[in-house]
Amino acid sequence: MERGNIQSAIDEIGKVCGHTTTDPAELLLYSFDSAKIKHKPDCVVFPESTEEVSEIVKICARRRIPVTARGAGTGCIGGAVPVEGGAALVLTKMNRIIAFNPDGLYVEVEPGIVNAELSGFLEKRGFFYPPDPASLKSSTIGGNVATGAGGPSAVKYGVTGDYVMGLTVVLADGSVLDTGIKTDKGVVGYDLKKLFVGSEGTLGIITKIRLKILPKPEAVVTATAVFPERKDAVSAVIAILHKGIRPRTLEYIDRTAIRCVEGYLKAGLPVNAGAILLMETDGKTADAEKEMDDIREVCLAGGAESLIIAENREEAEAQWKTRRSISASLNRLRPTKINEDVTVPRNRIAELMERTAEMSERTGLPIVNFGHAGDGNIHVNVMTDANDAEEYELALKTVGEILDLTLALDGTLSGEHGIGITKKPYIAREIGATGVKISKAIKKALDPDNILNPGKIFP
Ligand SMILES: Cc1cc2nc3c(=O)[nH]c(=O)nc-3n(C[C@H](O)[C@H](O)[C@H](O)COP(=O)(O)OP(=O)(O)OC[C@H]3O[C@@H](n4cnc5c(N)ncnc54)[C@H](O)[C@@H]3O)c2cc1C
Repeated sequence: MERGNIQSAIDEIGKVCGHTTTDPAELLLYSFDSAKIKHKPDCVVFPESTEEVSEIVKICARRRIPVTARGAGTGCIGGAVPVEGGAALVLTKMNRIIAFNPDGLYVEVEPGIVNAELSGFLEKRGFFYPPDPASLKSSTIGGNVATGAGGPSAVKYGVTGDYVMGLTVVLADGSVLDTGIKTDKGVVGYDLKKLFVGSEGTLGIITKIRLKILPKPEAVVTATAVFPERKDAVSAVIAILHKGIRPRTLEYIDRTAIRCVEGYLKAGLPVNAGAILLMETDGKTADAEKEMDDIREVCLAGGAESLIIAENREEAEAQWKTRRSISASLNRLRPTKINEDVTVPRNRIAELMERTAEMSERTGLPIVNFGHAGDGNIHVNVMTDANDAEEYELALKTVGEILDLTLALDGTLSGEHGIGITKKPYIAREIGATGVKISKAIKKALDPDNILNPGKIFP
């Protein structure tokens, strides 16, 4: 579809939204996310209300000009990259908590609020919003909803989509949809709010979010178990769940990751371990402690050489520092990290580990595995150098093999990051031709001129 005059659109948008810019530095700043794929927008707009978003989208719709929503730009799949130019709609100024309803157990927020800010607000009042992507200190709730983000606590508490009770969404023609409920249950018609969770800005711009909240657990117990053998760490994940324990966190870190973090932090980590598990239990103090005692029993019986329980918050933070430092420390191996977030049934995690280790040996490319083993969501990181064309091509081929392997293991290509640009060549392998046809029909029905985040998800 031919696009209309961009300059006249920018002029008109500027009249609606005071903070609209074409400054080359700003265009560059909003041209990429964590996937480091770049394409500049024609303008960057920072709306402050649903009404402004609606007017901006109407202006763009009249000229069929692309509008790409953006939160903090921490996405890993190029989702917020405006690949066809147009307006980058940055929602970070819409960051208010609109309503806090402790008795109804929900909050209403604007999309630009950072996850950790919302969590901090709730914690001070004795409440808790569980979804905790590792990027929680920077990523926005709007981005979390649009990607369907997960995190370490998903093993017990589920993912972002499980907490979305309602949404306000600006559609491709600028009209505004309010969808959802203020109750725990509701089955009136199609569940439209679910359609927008994980839709990556391709079906509408989310401008208000109602989220379920929980009372804050009385205690959280944190521990790290060290396993000489990788396979024993993986078996322990299943043994813990079979025991009837539902840990709040069950994170796996492989030997290469441990060594990289140790090189970075010099924290005395067990560099000869096959793998470590970082685990948390929560609830009433006595229950959380008892569950961690049970976990210790399972781990030691299953080949762990030690399990260290954090005595206080500082020690717990030190254990988390290892986990949170992995991404930054991997650059010691190669400058470019291709971070996949494949998810397999728990009984197939061991095979995923073995086969990716074989691929690493065969290709000479470091492959590092860590992440949310409790729900089978493993971050498989292929380390390479994007400036070395031959090696980079080999890395991309290896990623393709990993994705095929994941499907062969009955897994899914993305547990939490989404499809964006980087995984669109592979989507049909998972959802099939009929799945792609139906998804495209939904996109066409809601956005006939393909102005909302074009160039994403579909091959
Ligand atoms: C160090 C690191 C750790 C991470 N750990 C995790 C993790 O544990 N779990 C996890 O799930 N992800 C993780 N991520 C990925 C990323 O943080 C998430 O995908 C996050 O939800 C993106 O939020 P954002 O605000 O940065 O969104 P952006 O990157 O700005 O946008 C992401 C997508 O959402 C769309 N979008 C954003 N806001 C809106 C809106 N208001 N309306 C409609 N569409 C919108 C964009 O168009 C884009 O397609 C991690 C990333 C990094 C860098």
